[in-house]
Amino acid sequence: MRLFECATLVPGCQWHTRAEEEAEVVRRAVEHLREVHGETLVRENMVENIKARIRQENPAA
Ligand SMILES: [Zn+2]
Repeated sequence: MRLFECATLVPGCQWHTRAEEEAEVVRRAVEHLREVHGETLVRENMVENIKARIRQENPAA
């Protein structure tokens, strides 16, 4: 699973999301940033910033 924690971009925010696909994590993160943090312009470097902060979660096997 891929994990993105909003606090890596917006200190203090407790929101996070996880999904199998990186693209899905990015999509949800962009949606969250728009709705909660008022980020109306989805700039190219914002997507890059999100991708740079996505972590790979190893399965608990
Ligand atoms: Zn947030």
